[in-house]
Amino acid sequence: MSKSSAFDSLMSITKRPPMVMVEGRGSWLTDSSGKRYLDFIQGWAVNSLGHAPEVISQTLSSQAARLISPSPAFYNQPAISLADLLTSHSCFERVFFANSGAEANEGAIKLARKWGSLHKQGAYEIITMVNGFHGRTLATMSASGKPHWQELFEPKVPGFIKVALNDLDATRAAITERTVAIMLEPVQGEAGVIPASQPFLQGLRQLADQHRLLLIFDEVQTGMGRLGSLFAYQQAGIEPDIMTLGKGIGGGVPLAALLAKETVCCFEPGDQGGTYNGNPLMAAVGCAVLETMLQPGFLEQVRERGVQLANGLRKLSTQHGLGEVRGTGLLLGMALPAGNGDAIAEAAREQGLLINAARPDTLRFMPALNVSADEVDTCLAMLDQLFAQQAA
Ligand SMILES: *Cc1c(COP(=O)(O)O)cnc(C)c1O
Repeated sequence: MSKSSAFDSLMSITKRPPMVMVEGRGSWLTDSSGKRYLDFIQGWAVNSLGHAPEVISQTLSSQAARLISPSPAFYNQPAISLADLLTSHSCFERVFFANSGAEANEGAIKLARKWGSLHKQGAYEIITMVNGFHGRTLATMSASGKPHWQELFEPKVPGFIKVALNDLDATRAAITERTVAIMLEPVQGEAGVIPASQPFLQGLRQLADQHRLLLIFDEVQTGMGRLGSLFAYQQAGIEPDIMTLGKGIGGGVPLAALLAKETVCCFEPGDQGGTYNGNPLMAAVGCAVLETMLQPGFLEQVRERGVQLANGLRKLSTQHGLGEVRGTGLLLGMALPAGNGDAIAEAAREQGLLINAARPDTLRFMPALNVSADEVDTCLAMLDQLFAQQAA
């Protein structure tokens, strides 16, 4: 069979531009023609320390030379160390490692259902949010509230009840004796950077306490310093019972985690596992990433760059008559009343700036957490030009 393009051996799952990315360093990505891009997508908020940081390449090569995979049947030191680091810097006592955000969320759903079967007469329903995003496995797609996923891959995994984000009354009304948990993103990322309000999150904690439900935070996108604190729940002043991490925790390598309070941990041998889960190669990188984030001044820098970018975007919005700027830290969204997000993201790419149109009416910014002030200024200057060109 002949192939019509250089990419035909790959299963077609999304529209991609024709360039091939070959190299990255910090905030910059280079394609095979040598063209350079200022990257404010960073693998979808994944490269928390930028492209190919030395701390990750060194950790990978030294750990690879020492031990890659002793099998999940044995303890390994990097997994123990990373779990200790995570529990000592969060409100959780236990960690299960996974390879993707979706897998960590599957684990959260299973843990909640198991807890319901043991402690709540088999309650299994989980209240999730309209427009929420939790991943692409069958259960996490079922938990997600993306409107155009409604009809896909039927039948869905049952047991997910959707309510509108920030609607506490609707959430209260959705609780029945079958409800075991409430699960949400503290800031909806894929939906276009839509924050859950603090009163809503605090209200959910109260509802969960009143009705003995588990509160699950999907911090795959908001966790690991993205919002300027190590985790988003810290800014809401409440503690969830379960939290999932992904994306930034591996700084670019496949690593995710399910964290839970001791009282919730009810998996028994055979309930949960996985061939690569907690392998030392990825766990060692996770340690290096988290240790970097814990260095004095790191999170302060994230907050400073976040304010710089948000203020700059607000100024551009006023100048060019665009919409509101949403989000915290280095997860920011900008509304585009004209709905021309895809055109702007494409024009930006041609001029060497990578930004994501999370929706046609929203641009999303998720640079490396160690992006420099100059790089933020460069991004803003390029956007200024782009908005002027689009208006012309
Ligand atoms: C990206 C994301 C996921 C899915 O993570 P994968 O690693 O792609 O499986 C889940 N939840 C949220 C909030 C995300 O942003």
